[in-house]
Amino acid sequence: MDTSANSRYKASATADGSWPSLGHYFAPLMNERVAVGVFLAFLASSMFAGCVKTKESSPNSEETMRIFVFSRTQGFRHESIERGVAVIEQMGAENGFQTEHGEDQGLFTRERLGRYKAVVWLNTTGNVLDADQQTAFEDYIRRGGAYVGVHSAADTEYDWPWYGQLLGGNAWFNKHPPIQAATLQVVDQSHPSTRQLPISFSITDEWYNFKNNPQGSVNVLITIDEASYDPGAGAMGNPHPIAWYHEFDGGRAWYTGLGHREVLYDDTDFGMHLLGGLLWAMGAAENAQ
Ligand SMILES: [Zn+2]
Repeated sequence: MDTSANSRYKASATADGSWPSLGHYFAPLMNERVAVGVFLAFLASSMFAGCVKTKESSPNSEETMRIFVFSRTQGFRHESIERGVAVIEQMGAENGFQTEHGEDQGLFTRERLGRYKAVVWLNTTGNVLDADQQTAFEDYIRRGGAYVGVHSAADTEYDWPWYGQLLGGNAWFNKHPPIQAATLQVVDQSHPSTRQLPISFSITDEWYNFKNNPQGSVNVLITIDEASYDPGAGAMGNPHPIAWYHEFDGGRAWYTGLGHREVLYDDTDFGMHLLGGLLWAMGAAENAQ
């Protein structure tokens, strides 16, 4: 591995405190990085001050910034899952959070979920949780937890109405045309997951048409210009949201329709989009501008 690969997603200053030449990519995350550091320092001092750790933790009380990446599949399985997990683990190592990955739905208990600042549904498909596990996840969100959905997270849990609302506007996957390039438009540049992106850019992936348009139910971050590609059956017309966020039922949710292709996880634009979404979900990017 070369040095650039090792530091791909690292937001760090040089010895003199200035930002390196890659700052046009990484500087926008400087405030998040500082926020995480301050947060960890605060928690460390709290621990040494004799803070008693309660037996049952909640998403807001854990001292460690920890996320759970869940990639259980009961339908189509994306070949990109393993690369996605590795990249998120690398992001965590370089930005101050721990990543745990698993496909065991038995981890969805009240106690276990309380360990995590966010739960990433990374290209999950089909019915991945039973009724008790669904209840535990609803409870986790209501306690201030966070959901990050990537691509086929929208092709998941069609029979769980609450999940459709959490995802945003019941925007479950409907159909998709063949993989092709399309033009994306950033419609909200104020969010950590978009502020480092160009206003308009072309990228190649598998583009979902959703069963329902989430516009109006969520804060849309990015739309896809249907005039720039062939949307095929189930075309949604414009605007066609492809990434969004909202606060829901006591917690927060961020979704991106990108993330089908393995190579995308090594694309800087997509990487910073995903990292910004993770940091926002964890509450580590609230004050960054
Ligand atoms: Zn896909």
